[in-house]
Amino acid sequence: MGFFAFRARSRCGYPEAVIENLPPCPKCSCEYTYEMNALVVCPECGHEWVPAEGGAQAGEGSGEKVVKDAVGNVLSDGDSVTVVKALKVKGSPSGIKAGTKVRNIRLIDGVDGHDIDCRIDGFGAMQLKSSVVKKA
Ligand SMILES: [Zn+2]
Repeated sequence: MGFFAFRARSRCGYPEAVIENLPPCPKCSCEYTYEMNALVVCPECGHEWVPAEGGAQAGEGSGEKVVKDAVGNVLSDGDSVTVVKALKVKGSPSGIKAGTKVRNIRLIDGVDGHDIDCRIDGFGAMQLKSSVVKKA
């Protein structure tokens, strides 16, 4: 009897169509999640959630990452900021002075914690850390 019960369960396993490129359950990390309407549902723990939009596309819709300036203002593309402390710049004797205005920043996922791409007069294209600027 036990043998048949086991066989029956195996045959009723999750259909192949279920195993798509859906994210695993954030609660129990079960991989057999499936889509229902706009939700992703976990068959293991019953957790339902809205899948991250375009999460698989690198660089697209970075809605999850929030970049904040030195005092906690949320920064976004196109913002103008002011540098709050003097920064050394390779090849420049003066560096960037505190109070330097930077217009039209672009948020990036740069190396070494640099998350702002911008252009500073007299210096050209630069990458800054959000911790050294303040929203203007
Ligand atoms: Zn789950």
